Amino acid sequence: MSQAEIGLIGLGVMGSNLALNIAERGNKIAVFNRTVEATRKFYSEAGELKGQIVPCETIEEFVAAIRPPRPIIIMIKAGEAVDQQMEILKPYLSKGDIMIDAGNANFRDTMRRFDALKGSDLTFIGMGVSGGEEGARHGPSIMVGGTEESYRRVEKVLTSIAAKFENDPCVAWLGENGAGHFVKTIHNGIEYADMQMIAEIYGILRDGLKMSAAEIGEVFGTWNKGRLNSYLIEITEKVLKAADPLTGKPIVDLILDKAGQKGTGKWSVIEAQNMGIPATGIEAAVAARSISSMKEEREAAEKILGLPPVGEFTVADREAFIEDLENALLAAKIGAYAQGFAVMSAASKEFGWNLPMPTIAKIWRAGCIIRSQFLDEITTAFTKAPDVANLIVTPAFAAMVKETDGALRRVVSAAVLGGLPVPALASALGYFDSYRRGRGTANVIQAQRDFFGAHGFDRVDGADSHHGPWGSGLNA
Ligand code: NAP
Repeated sequence: MSQAEIGLIGLGVMGSNLALNIAERGNKIAVFNRTVEATRKFYSEAGELKGQIVPCETIEEFVAAIRPPRPIIIMIKAGEAVDQQMEILKPYLSKGDIMIDAGNANFRDTMRRFDALKGSDLTFIGMGVSGGEEGARHGPSIMVGGTEESYRRVEKVLTSIAAKFENDPCVAWLGENGAGHFVKTIHNGIEYADMQMIAEIYGILRDGLKMSAAEIGEVFGTWNKGRLNSYLIEITEKVLKAADPLTGKPIVDLILDKAGQKGTGKWSVIEAQNMGIPATGIEAAVAARSISSMKEEREAAEKILGLPPVGEFTVADREAFIEDLENALLAAKIGAYAQGFAVMSAASKEFGWNLPMPTIAKIWRAGCIIRSQFLDEITTAFTKAPDVANLIVTPAFAAMVKETDGALRRVVSAAVLGGLPVPALASALGYFDSYRRGRGTANVIQAQRDFFGAHGFDRVDGADSHHGPWGSGLNA
């Protein structure tokens, strides 16, 4: 029997779907799971793909089934489990074998794992996989970090299973060590911002315009045919229109307003802060999830403070306001994506990756959670100007910001005056307004810093005097 082209450990939700995808695309795959029953169940349900699958119950059997140099995908719970699994595998591996962590790892763990194998016969790939269960089964977006040589060994299989955008496979080698997992982290950070902004717009439609879930679903459905066309808008229409089988009510009205998070949003914010790059949309989204989880505290605060004492939420022209909401969402989205790409650009320099911005936008056009038409426009903008300082100053996006930021301003104003929370939308507006203003207000901060700490300042006139006339206040 011919050997398997690749191996996969971890037949949970993601691993089993990825394994079926690999098999279905004509690649022979060996599979292993810590708990043997999962392997047996997986194989018994593999139907006509059984011929492409080698189910293994021991690590020895598993490793022997794969053609060397062996690429082994590890798709298990992120964190310590991956280190444990690698230690178990190592004694069975030989020169050139590649351990590929395809879970949602913190890219710093990926760098550590990659470095630990440096100088040994083995190598490591950190591979970000996006698209959830459905993506894993039928075509995810795949972000690869590791040596280029190790990528060449798996390129054929990964290209065969990746999502396709107009025949372009959504997979790429993005750089050494943690590059793939870093890009996946920022993908998720942007996803947090996208989802939060959608939720805030939903809030304005629900609590401001008093629309029903189904009516709001209709609005999102219409938007999905326009410039906001994307997977997240598409599923928002579906969730808003879905009825609860138990009560017949809109399911969304019965779901508790406490959002979970697993860490990638928070990691995006931490890394952005570490590098001094503003990622206000992602920060607002992570904070909003944290506030959402404080349900009891919020309910207690509402009893003490009450909702903001504002009058009826009124808009002069409802139809025009809904059009404003569409444009406001687009504007805010541009801000969040611009920030995400700016964070990646800084990280590329910080970690010596040479991350290819047009390629990243390209492989996010299909397969992943943030997939959209909009990413095709980002691909074009970065292809024309790969080294631009910020997406929003490319000609196409500058034009879009100028066209839509008025709507964002009107929507944020209406929400603020109506007492409706819009932290992510407002953060985008603040970002645009600060970023586009040549003369800001940090002169006062510099003066204050010099006053209390003698930190000194630069002058606009270039004169050689770097402290203020604060007298005895200095060093206080
Ligand atoms: P899952 O369904 O909970 O499956 C977990 C798998 O990990 C099982 O095969 C389990 O084996 C294995 N495992 C746990 N601890 C282990 C250990 N110490 N040693 C060996 N194997 C161990 O998880 P999942 O949703 O497939 O997620 C897998 C990875 O993909 C995670 O890193 C996740 O963050 C990432 N991811 C998930 C999604 C998603 O939409 N779900 C999307 C992208 C990425 P047993 O059967 O023996 O318990």
